[in-house]
Amino acid sequence: MGPLERLRIWDDPALRDALDWYLDVAENRRPAKFRIAVTVPTSFDPAIATEGALWAELEQLTPSFLARWEAIRAGAPLPQPVNGPSLLELCRELAYRMLGHCNFCPWNCRVDRCTGIKLGACKLASGARVSTHFHHTGEELFYRGTAGSGTIFFTSCNMRCAFCQNGDISTDKDNGEEVDARTLATMAWVLRREGCHNINWVGGEVVIHLHAIVDAIALLGRGFTPSLAQLARARSTKADRFSFFKEMPEFADYDAGFNAPILWNSNFFMTMESMKILRLLTDVWLPDLKFGPGRCAMTLAKTPWYWQTVTGNIALLSAWRENFTIRHLVMPNHVECCTYPVLNWIAEHVPAAPVNVMAQFHPDNFCDPGSAKYRGKYAEIARQPTPPELEASWQHARKLGLKFETTTFERRNPFTLTAMFGM
Ligand code: SF4
Repeated sequence: MGPLERLRIWDDPALRDALDWYLDVAENRRPAKFRIAVTVPTSFDPAIATEGALWAELEQLTPSFLARWEAIRAGAPLPQPVNGPSLLELCRELAYRMLGHCNFCPWNCRVDRCTGIKLGACKLASGARVSTHFHHTGEELFYRGTAGSGTIFFTSCNMRCAFCQNGDISTDKDNGEEVDARTLATMAWVLRREGCHNINWVGGEVVIHLHAIVDAIALLGRGFTPSLAQLARARSTKADRFSFFKEMPEFADYDAGFNAPILWNSNFFMTMESMKILRLLTDVWLPDLKFGPGRCAMTLAKTPWYWQTVTGNIALLSAWRENFTIRHLVMPNHVECCTYPVLNWIAEHVPAAPVNVMAQFHPDNFCDPGSAKYRGKYAEIARQPTPPELEASWQHARKLGLKFETTTFERRNPFTLTAMFGM
């Protein structure tokens, strides 16, 4: 049993059921999905086929992939990677084709981000920018574990949340450093070999960097080992580079190849096409469900089609039998219009999902009265939620029978604290 699995939080059967695949990959008992995708051959040459033909091929190969995934879940061995193009390269090629008429998210800007002549709502061309990467010890216990979640933090966003708690990263497209796929792969490779329990792709928003991330994952699936120059390049954005982490190659190994669970930590404002690619590469998903079905996504985040997009994508995860947990941040004055409908929807559509009903909202960005950026129209959320608002939210989740207490209250739970040390 490895350090993550020794945590007593796994004694909660609901959590263990919901995250069984993730835990198996984190403990290297199973290969990550990208290791499976590279064993599924494609007869197409991704470099010359039309995009329509590539999508048809992806649709046709997905059932083969899923059948192999099921068999491996049940204990079958991992086949050898194919020598020619595989489903992994098909995913990479499709992500780059999408970049040429960008439809990663529902803004569907249709701009050619390769030329960068016109930019879409996220204001990005083809370059991906990383603000920082590090062992994140602030995520949920089952993600941060004992050694941290291997977090790679991207800049810019496709939503405009007035209260964004990472406003310096999400609203500044030039924050951080531009990185290529090899540098990204290097970051993931180092973090996992230093003991991180997963590779946590997060932003701002991550889907707007889909091409670069899929490219990096494709490298990791093909035996990528960074050069000294790549190691030095990646190190410049490593926030904890002056801390000592022992290198443990065995911690990143399944069947003599690099292994790490891919964690997609996202606002989930993304298209079906992005979802279809990510389904083949993501081992565990972490969607935010922020706003109710009313106008709040528009008034607070300038985001149309929010409710139908995000609930639709989360419902897909359940239909696809994926591992996932949901985050909902309780906002002041938005318990009735956002928190209750969000929790009701979860209870009705994905009742087995572990949920983090989060209390840490604080006024930030355009909602912080102490900031020069403050806008008076956001006065209604320019404070922390009150204890009665939080209690009412948790009480509602309790009444609905949601699986939220282990996740939401783990830091206050002495049982969990003793579990941290495997006692
Ligand atoms: S990622 Fe979304 S916001 Fe950015 S260009 Fe593509 S469709 Fe537009």
